[in-house]
Amino acid sequence: MSFDERAFFDERSESRPGRFQCPKCRRTNEYSVRWVRRTKKSRLPPGSDDHDRAKFAKLRNYLLRLDDEVTCKACGRKFEIPSQHSLMFTDQLAGLPNSDELEREIALASGEEAPAAEPAKPALPARFTRKPQWK
Ligand SMILES: [Zn+2]
Repeated sequence: MSFDERAFFDERSESRPGRFQCPKCRRTNEYSVRWVRRTKKSRLPPGSDDHDRAKFAKLRNYLLRLDDEVTCKACGRKFEIPSQHSLMFTDQLAGLPNSDELEREIALASGEEAPAAEPAKPALPARFTRKPQWK
């Protein structure tokens, strides 16, 4: 008999922040979204067979989103979380910048950042600034 996939994982629930725009009032707010994190157990459950071992070797840690919708903080209407991703592998996640960094990059790319101060012009040599002497 082989095990259900869940037997290979330790499960822990967690909340992750997400910024979503309400499709009704178009306001963007930060919401706390519930996820469950499944971390591979350090060893196979007792009584595993070869099939389980092969399956276990292929498993990756992942996050599964529990919430499908949030209640808009501005207008109070429920809307669906627009992200397609209700499952994320945590090794995939580690390679991504966090959302704060991402927003900074977007702000930079769109030119919201103040332009860098121009480098001071080098002073002209005296021979160019000396007043001409007329005789
Ligand atoms: Zn709204």
